Parts: sequence; C-alpha cells; structure tokens
Amino acid sequence: MNTDKKIPPEVKKLFIERLISQGITNKKLLNVISSIPRHLFVESALSRRAYDDDALPIGYGQTISSPYIVGKMTQLLIENDSMNNVLEIGTGCGYQTAILSLLFKKVTTIERIEKLQTKTKKLLSSFGLKNIKYIHADGHHGYKINQPYDAIIMTASPIEIPDDLIRQLGITGRMVLPLNDKGSQKLFRLKNTKNGILKKEVDDVKFVPMIKGIA
Ligand code: SAH
Repeated sequence: MNTDKKIPPEVKKLFIERLISQGITNKKLLNVISSIPRHLFVESALSRRAYDDDALPIGYGQTISSPYIVGKMTQLLIENDSMNNVLEIGTGCGYQTAILSLLFKKVTTIERIEKLQTKTKKLLSSFGLKNIKYIHADGHHGYKINQPYDAIIMTASPIEIPDDLIRQLGITGRMVLPLNDKGSQKLFRLKNTKNGILKKEVDDVKFVPMIKGIA
C-alpha cells in the first residue's frame, strides 16, 4: 500500500498482539492489517482511538467496525487456493475494502450512500489500490456482472440472507454476514458445497442495519 503514514511501531505491536490474543492468527491477514494505517480512515478528531478495540463513527450515521470484528470476518473468508474474486456489501470508510484489496485479486464493493463512497474511493485511490470496482447501488441484489464470487462479505445487517447474493456465490464460495434475528444479530458463515449451502453461527455482533434503496 502506497502511503508514508504508517502505524506508529509501538502502537502496532500492541494492536497486533491484541488481535492474536483474540484469535486472529492468519499470518497473511496480520501482515495486511499491519500495513494499513487505520487512523487515516476515521475523522482526525478520533484518530487517537483508531487502534482501540472499538467501532467508531464515520459520518452519515454509519460506523467502522472494531478491528477484532474486521479481522474475524476476514479470516472466515480466507481459503488459500480461492482468493480471486470478492464482493463486499457496505463500502463505508473503506478500511475493510483496503484489507480485501490486499488479499484478493479483484474486489467489487457496493455502497448505498453515494457521497460516502465517493470520499472512500478518493482515499483508497490515493493509496494506489487499483483492483477495486466501486458500485453505488442497493447491495441486496449483489453485482451480477462480476459473479461468481469466491467470497462475499456483508458489513450491514440484513433481516434475511439476500437470495441474489447466494446465487452469485461460486461453487466453493464463502459468505460472512451479520444476520438480524428478531432484533439481535448473529454472525454467520455460509459455505457453498456440492451438496448445498452449509450455515454456521459464529458470534453475537452489532452492525448498522442494511437499508433498502440508495441515497
Ligand atoms: N465496512 C465498512 C462498514 C460500514 S457500516 C467500514 O469499514 O467502514 C455499513 C455500511 O453499509 C454503511 O456505509 C451503509 O451505508 C452501508 N449499507 C447499508 N445498507 C446497504 C445496502 N442496502 N446496500 C449497500 N450498502 C449498504
């Protein structure tokens, strides 16, 4: 990644040690997380808190997920021999997008708030991240043109798993999403197999809701 604004070394050490103690152990992922200055993705007034274990506001009523949740969800997507094509629903500030861009060959990211996505696109382009396709749309329908996806990640919480996204998942595809189940949210990992979709509950989580339509 193309930036001279690195994570301060003493901050990085504690940040990565904490992620490892929380079960984020994939070496490639940890290297990628180490290379991305998270403080550049939040408002400057909040940059001192960027490496805490917290979700933070990013404007437009949205939040950047905590480092642990980003790490956990990404780790659930990784399968070494199938890292070509990933779809992200909810570009937000682009921190998760940047991680995906360094792990996968090609990223498609969908955001419903146009102004937020435009700002994020500028930031990620300034880092030299070029393998990202930005789509301003309602993510419920995915992005058919770039299917099938090796991995799909949703960073806003839907009330049911969108059928279109399941259809766009490749034959060994993985999907990670915070599903809203009667007001509480659970993180699920879905895995496509030749015998159909396997679904596993992973954790309790709290995400912003997935909203229909665009803004
Ligand atoms: N991964 C982001 C998380 C942002 S919060 C980050 O690290 O910043 C979730 C994002 O999903 C918000 O930006 C919100 O606008 C977006 N979102 C909500 N509903 C959506 C929908 N139907 N389609 C696309 N994006 C949606």
